Amino acid sequence: MRVLVTGGAGYIGSHTLIELMAQGHAVCVLDNYKNATPAVLQRVRALSNGTMTDYAGDVRDGAMLDKVMTTFKPDAVVHFAGLKAVGESAEKPLDYYDVNVGGTLAVLQAMDRAGCRRIIFSSSATVYGEPVYLPYDEDHPTRPTSVYGQTKLAAEHILTGWTKANPDAAAVILRYFNPVGAHHSARIGEDPRDTPNNLMPFIAQVAIGKRDALTIFGDDYDTPDGTGLRDYIHVVDLARAHVAALDYAARTNGAGIFNIGTGQSYSVRDMVSAFSRACGRDIAVKVASRRAGDIAAMQADASRARHAMGWTATHTLEDMTASTWAWQSANPNGYQTETDTSKITP
Ligand code: NAD
Ligand code: UDP
Repeated sequence: MRVLVTGGAGYIGSHTLIELMAQGHAVCVLDNYKNATPAVLQRVRALSNGTMTDYAGDVRDGAMLDKVMTTFKPDAVVHFAGLKAVGESAEKPLDYYDVNVGGTLAVLQAMDRAGCRRIIFSSSATVYGEPVYLPYDEDHPTRPTSVYGQTKLAAEHILTGWTKANPDAAAVILRYFNPVGAHHSARIGEDPRDTPNNLMPFIAQVAIGKRDALTIFGDDYDTPDGTGLRDYIHVVDLARAHVAALDYAARTNGAGIFNIGTGQSYSVRDMVSAFSRACGRDIAVKVASRRAGDIAAMQADASRARHAMGWTATHTLEDMTASTWAWQSANPNGYQTETDTSKITP
């Protein structure tokens, strides 16, 4: 298929480009580099033999989308582009609605103009909110507690409405749990621009000596060791879920919602211990109070994705920590000092 990948230079998008090209899809990236650098695409090209074009532009720019649609003529869109920081979303709610909801609207409107009828959307397990039961299945009530989560849920509703109005259309909504890890080449990975909000990149920066200690946000939760439990998923498994979703979208119509997680959960202390084993160093920690808005435990029931799309996660916790450490230690400053464009053996 010909696949337009919005936000393709980002963390999850870049890994997905590699998996899409490995399966013979032709890809085109649209990214405004708000949270990425073009150097990412140089590295993706060096790791792949597939066909990739790219445009620098904003998903809210209808004229730019029309240009990409008429030039590239996608069969499907994978829509990653968005803002993703939960804390920031409370400070800048209009920006989050503008990009995450307005951007999704603009993409769908451009797809309508071009007659493109298949979309895969990056949603988040955060749409569920406080668990009524665990593991969450896709029928769990959706009561997001952050602006970020609300924008993802609003976009889901728009996508569902679009498929109802267009019986020949398909929207696959993937609710990601906690993506971590990096490509096995250690050439692409997560490269937060500021202080990492998320656990894994923060631990990695402590391990490399950029930060003194990890602050554990609360060890008084009702969990086995008192720290928060999450369903961490290797980013390559997540990338492959998009390939499976495209295949699924090619043979179905309507909206489908799928949890993308492993079905297992680990505590903050489990993650620190696993990372310490991977890097062979102690990770200093200090315990602070709970982070506002955090919940004790999240875990996916990912059986719907397995049954309907034939997708299941295969990477282990060790794969997650080892690949993060390999990426972090080979690229202590992320993509910042990129000069090398040579071909890397995948
Ligand atoms: P990321 O920030 O690394 O990637 C997003 C990409 O979109 C970046 O390359 C950024 O430059 C681009 N972008 C942002 N605004 C844009 C705009 N207006 N026009 C064009 N490009 C734009 O984030 P990620 O971790 O790769 O996440 C990808 C998607 O998955 C996001 O929609 C995010 O909300 C969602 N998601 C991420 C996580 C996570 O923990 N990483 C969890 C659940 C859902
Ligand atoms: N966490 C932590 N210290 C940090 C970052 C995260 O203790 O510096 C904890 C957080 O409270 C949660 C887990 O790690 O229990 C995962 O947090 P993250 O922000 O990575 O993902 P979330 O599930 O909140 O989206």
